[in-house]
Amino acid sequence: MLEADLHRLAYWLRLLGQDALLLEGPINKAEVVKYPDRVFITTSRKLEEHFKAWGIRYLIIPRDQWKVQLCLLIKHFKIEPLLRLNRCYHCNAELRVVNREEVKERIPPAVYLFGKDFTMCPVCGKIYWKGSHHKALNRKLKEIKSAC
Ligand SMILES: [Zn+2]
Repeated sequence: MLEADLHRLAYWLRLLGQDALLLEGPINKAEVVKYPDRVFITTSRKLEEHFKAWGIRYLIIPRDQWKVQLCLLIKHFKIEPLLRLNRCYHCNAELRVVNREEVKERIPPAVYLFGKDFTMCPVCGKIYWKGSHHKALNRKLKEIKSAC
């Protein structure tokens, strides 16, 4: 689970297939202790005494560029830096594989013809497919990995 400010990081962790919950509001005990199996990722060193008192698992990362933070987490959690695209990057839900006929009415005609590997988020309904966006993400990931 990540603090709300780390939304960009959560987005990338989800792209890498990680189950990354994002806190919606400010850091508060009631929300954080709800998930005892999760590691709470935060930049808030000044709340460390509270985290200890709450008995949660936490990881404090430096306030830095999200790319630097992502490298740090890839190393810390030994995450394989590969695009998995099996999780909705908006809401963290696992995607369901769908066929193009199922989503025909909701995608542009060119995507219907040329898109591949369609998936849909069961929570927000967003449809994903392999296409140019996927290539751009892979390029970005390569760039991040080379700077790690
Ligand atoms: Zn979703």
